[in-house]
Amino acid sequence: MMKDCLFCKIAAGEIPSNKVYEDEKVIVFHDIDPQAPTHLLAIPKEHVASCGAITPENSPVVAYLFEVIARVTEQLGITEFRVVSNCGATAGQSVFHLHFHVLAGRDMTWPPG
Ligand code: 5GP
Ligand code: ZN
Repeated sequence: MMKDCLFCKIAAGEIPSNKVYEDEKVIVFHDIDPQAPTHLLAIPKEHVASCGAITPENSPVVAYLFEVIARVTEQLGITEFRVVSNCGATAGQSVFHLHFHVLAGRDMTWPPG
């Protein structure tokens, strides 16, 4: 648990979130400022700063997180969606705890802005 990390606090339940899935390793919850009809955030409970901080030691939880994303979207009846992770401020990262945005429910444009 990293002090002053918003998503560590959400993972620990210190800050409330609208959860759709939780287990001992990961949590999936609704983004507070949705950019699509469905906008979930999937995070490891363990603090990892970004996609750029994935290592052989922590990559199993990242793989597991994708397994959970597949399961949770299926349970919600979401068959088409976009998974995005912004790595670094220039790429749009504002919370420095690894998270995957899961966006669905509207047409997506490419390339992303
Ligand atoms: P980033 O900008 O780092 O790619 O994504 C951070 C996301 O976290 C944003 O989409 C933002 O709306 C969301 N967010 C920021 N603070 C909170 C919060 O307190 N609760 C929830 N559920 N989402 C948050
Ligand atoms: Zn954290």
